[in-house]
Amino acid sequence: MINVILKGGNVAQFTEGITVAQVAASISEGLARAALVGAVDGEVKDLSYKIDRDCSVEIMTFADEAGKRAYRHTTSHIMAQAVKKLFPDARLAIGPAIENGFYYDFDIVRPFLPDDLVKIEAEMTRIIKEDAPLERFTLSRAEALKLMSDRNEPYKIELINDLPEEEELSFYRQGDFVDLCAGPHLTSTGKVKTFKLLSTAGAYWRGDEKNKMLQRIYGTSFLKKADLDEYLAFIEEAEKRDHRRIGKDLDLFSMSDATGPGLVLWHKKGGRIRTIIEEFWRREHYKNGYDIVYSPHIGRSTLWETSGHLGFFRENMYSPIVIEDQEYFLKPMNCPFHIAMYKSRMWSYRDLPQRWAELGTVYRYEKSGVLHGLMRVRGFTQDDAHIFCSPEQMPEEIRKVLKFCLHMLKYFGFEKYKLYLATRPAKTNAGSDEMWEAATAALQDAIRAEGLDCEIDEGGGAFYGPKIDIKIKDALNREWQCSTIQFDFNMPQRFDMSFIAASGEKKQPYMIHRALFGSIERFFGVLLEHYAGALPLWLSPVQVKLMPISDRQYEYTAELKKKLEELDYRVEADLRNEKIGYKIREAQLEKVPFMLIIGDKEVEAGQVSVRSRNQGDLGSMTFEKFIELMIEAISSKK
Ligand SMILES: [Zn+2]
Ligand SMILES: [Zn+2]
Repeated sequence: MINVILKGGNVAQFTEGITVAQVAASISEGLARAALVGAVDGEVKDLSYKIDRDCSVEIMTFADEAGKRAYRHTTSHIMAQAVKKLFPDARLAIGPAIENGFYYDFDIVRPFLPDDLVKIEAEMTRIIKEDAPLERFTLSRAEALKLMSDRNEPYKIELINDLPEEEELSFYRQGDFVDLCAGPHLTSTGKVKTFKLLSTAGAYWRGDEKNKMLQRIYGTSFLKKADLDEYLAFIEEAEKRDHRRIGKDLDLFSMSDATGPGLVLWHKKGGRIRTIIEEFWRREHYKNGYDIVYSPHIGRSTLWETSGHLGFFRENMYSPIVIEDQEYFLKPMNCPFHIAMYKSRMWSYRDLPQRWAELGTVYRYEKSGVLHGLMRVRGFTQDDAHIFCSPEQMPEEIRKVLKFCLHMLKYFGFEKYKLYLATRPAKTNAGSDEMWEAATAALQDAIRAEGLDCEIDEGGGAFYGPKIDIKIKDALNREWQCSTIQFDFNMPQRFDMSFIAASGEKKQPYMIHRALFGSIERFFGVLLEHYAGALPLWLSPVQVKLMPISDRQYEYTAELKKKLEELDYRVEADLRNEKIGYKIREAQLEKVPFMLIIGDKEVEAGQVSVRSRNQGDLGSMTFEKFIELMIEAISSKK
């Protein structure tokens, strides 16, 4: 007999060799029906897995992340089987479950067409109806290589050759389809109830642009049709909000092959929004006791050697530029420059804390395959700051920085966020035990003081210090990593930073890196998606559009424009000889918050006819009344 600890802590006894499925059945009939896989001592296994020792078992259903992944990974095998049936020359690469779905990469002579997806879906439906069992088997390395070479799967051969010698080589078979796979999987193809193929894309083998371009098919699967439909509606909405599309439609930014991938060109309206964000950012930083500093875009190799970047960050850095026989590197981070500023003089405890902020543009190498609009770029501007303080000041500084961070996010309309606290990793020689403990406690206290919860990533901190990451939730409830507050015990050591303490002795200051938005580019992308391009009035590049009905009202229009500009509003007048309905439609597409329609009646009465982007026609009113409306919309951040 073996003892099995079930979820909740109950211990049940079974005969040796019982399967995960049988354990589920012993708990309840309902659980046996819903069971997809099971975690045995924390390792996710097939339902057919035989248990031969004392262990813990947790049954996983579609409600569990691991259950979902097995479900979707099985769907990806079904898709691959269908593709092999319809395109026998397709070679299999990899096909994992991902967040919200799965994909499979194939080497195939031509890209898949929309019509192909319809055919593949039909074949998948047939395979599911067949309800073929998925069988797991293991082979020796020689047998595995022979099987894959008999089946002419060169990518699988490469994968096998790359696996460590001691790794067990497992395969899954369903019908005539066989795949090299660690699993786990569902017991049969019929367990997949509803699925949809979503899109295709080119993808380099192993994400490396030096390798061959493969063809990827993305799909998803759910237990219930209603959940699938809801998800499909969600992606449709997300596509409408795609910042790359909004950026093009509203003429905010672009990227071009001529200037290089991942390098952003901010057009005049995007530039206007960025200026508003940056001006606000600077004002708030001065208000919160920061100073603003500037540092160059390149720095000598000696700086990056001392900082350690040439050791642990080299692969993300651009090749050196040689000037007077000295190597210079484009900066991937601002920190070493701020440290150099710190080291330019002596500091006493009375001078601390120092809070230095910089909108610092950094350059990092990212593989071209992972570049994504403004979200993943090669050149970006961090809203960076470094805080240098004494151990006594540190807890208060952390409380302040978290409060400041939440204030900024809220101002831009983000009220929902999730906090992640990453603690000391197993291996690190930066910082003393006391420093790690004090820093982690300060982060925890600051979160508590704000009345917030956090998820703790035990041991997930960087080698140089613990941190809080804040992910904001947008209008579609998607999480975006933006803010970060991070201790650094490494740099102060490497650069031998110090201050004179009250006791007269030299001490090492605490160094805290923090970014509130993360990067301006990424934050701008998130803003565009959150608001679907219809930014609040205070951020809109054009706040008011004046639209005379005919040239008879040009003079009055010019007068209004001047008055609005004198009040610092951003105004445009549409003086084209077009029908008013056409002008309104265009302004609506440009997401201009307010339109003022000016006809003879308005001129005579000395009024304006107001149209709001969100509420439509608001009727005629005096200019003063309209200004009141604007002031209210700006202060309520609508
Ligand atoms: Zn697999
Ligand atoms: Zn830093």
